[in-house]
Amino acid sequence: MNAEIIAVGSELLTPHRQDTNSLYLTEKLNDLGVEVRFKSIVGDDVEGLTAAAKLAMRRSDIIIFSGGLGPTEDDLTREAVAEGLGLKVQRDPAVLAKLEERFAKRGMKMSANNAKQADILTSATVMPNPLGTAPGQWIAGKYDGEERLLMLLPGPPHELKALFEAECIPRLRARIPPQHIAIRTLKMAMMPESQVDARVAPIYKTYTDVQTTILAGAGEIQLQLRCRKDSLAEAEARVAELAEKIEDELGDAIFSRKGETIEQIVSYLLQMRGMTLAVAESCTGGLLAERITSLSGSSRYFLGGAVVYSNELKTQFANVPKAMIDRHGAVSREVAAAMAEGIRKRCVASYGIGITGVAGPSGGTEQKPVGLVYIALAGEEGTQVVERNFPGDRKRIRQFATQQALEMIRRALV
Ligand code: ATP
Ligand code: MG
Repeated sequence: MNAEIIAVGSELLTPHRQDTNSLYLTEKLNDLGVEVRFKSIVGDDVEGLTAAAKLAMRRSDIIIFSGGLGPTEDDLTREAVAEGLGLKVQRDPAVLAKLEERFAKRGMKMSANNAKQADILTSATVMPNPLGTAPGQWIAGKYDGEERLLMLLPGPPHELKALFEAECIPRLRARIPPQHIAIRTLKMAMMPESQVDARVAPIYKTYTDVQTTILAGAGEIQLQLRCRKDSLAEAEARVAELAEKIEDELGDAIFSRKGETIEQIVSYLLQMRGMTLAVAESCTGGLLAERITSLSGSSRYFLGGAVVYSNELKTQFANVPKAMIDRHGAVSREVAAAMAEGIRKRCVASYGIGITGVAGPSGGTEQKPVGLVYIALAGEEGTQVVERNFPGDRKRIRQFATQQALEMIRRALV
């Protein structure tokens, strides 16, 4: 079965508010084995809502509206859905009495427009909303000959969640044939998306029952495998089989199989080997240390380090010879290596990392353009330096640089 979610509210079409209800609903629907095929956000206008309702009823088995059930002029979901589906709305005396009682309990008099919240679509079942005034509505029936399940839910996230859990999930469970979705996420660092796809597409294309998506971030590619079957074991077996073939192809490039972050993997590897790490950061200004220490327990393997932004501090804190900086410049292979070695020695760590580069947007030159970053890893077995030209803005370049550093230490440890 497929679902469609329609989030209602003009505020959700501004830069200031986000539709989070659909994320929650998607998670819960997936748990029931239901795939969400369409989501849309529609402002508070009757025509748009009516059109959205009609379209959804034609193409989706389950249709969920969120929001627009309030008492004000701009709360139009009930009317629009009725119009779209050719239903009537009727004021429900029992719901109205409950509303009045709710106001009376708080010593308030109910205003006339609140009565609108007792308008119920013909053939709908009222789903009580203990946390708010607008009840939810459930309609199960045929539309143009097709079985449809339609839900109208209040917009405030806490109301929607409580109502969905208590009223909708049991109803859906009773009607949906048991289906299960298995999901596996494989992550790779510092590989171009096109390269990953070129290598794995021939493999995943032969698994037509597993949906494979590639998500690309700054220095990280995620391959998500999803399979829906009647039994969870069956779905998991298909995903596992495909994952294994992809792992055979990409090998060590895959750092995570269970959703772990690269920081978590580095943490795990350092602890397993009983090793420690120190960092000297210039253009990343502490971002690498921030990422590493975002994990609780990082003191077991992370000793610390220094943000050595000025040349003087590179010399003072990371033992980079002044003459070396004068000769090669602060952004150079030599200085990155010296930073990694210097901080490793000063902190008495198993590994030292040095990062120096031009994060931009200013400060680039012909020889040393914005995005040029040197990342060095010093260990017992020697020092390696990687030179990269990262694309993007300052934030992205800094993210890339720390990702490269984490990938280098991960590779050294596996
Ligand atoms: P009421 O008006 O009775 O509070 P309603 O069903 O009309 O309920 P809305 O007016 O649409 O709900 O929204 C109420 C609040 O919930 C607003 O603060 C709104 O930003 C928030 N909200 C609405 N829809 C969503 C959504 N899809 N995701 C996150 N927040 C939402
Ligand atoms: Mg609204």
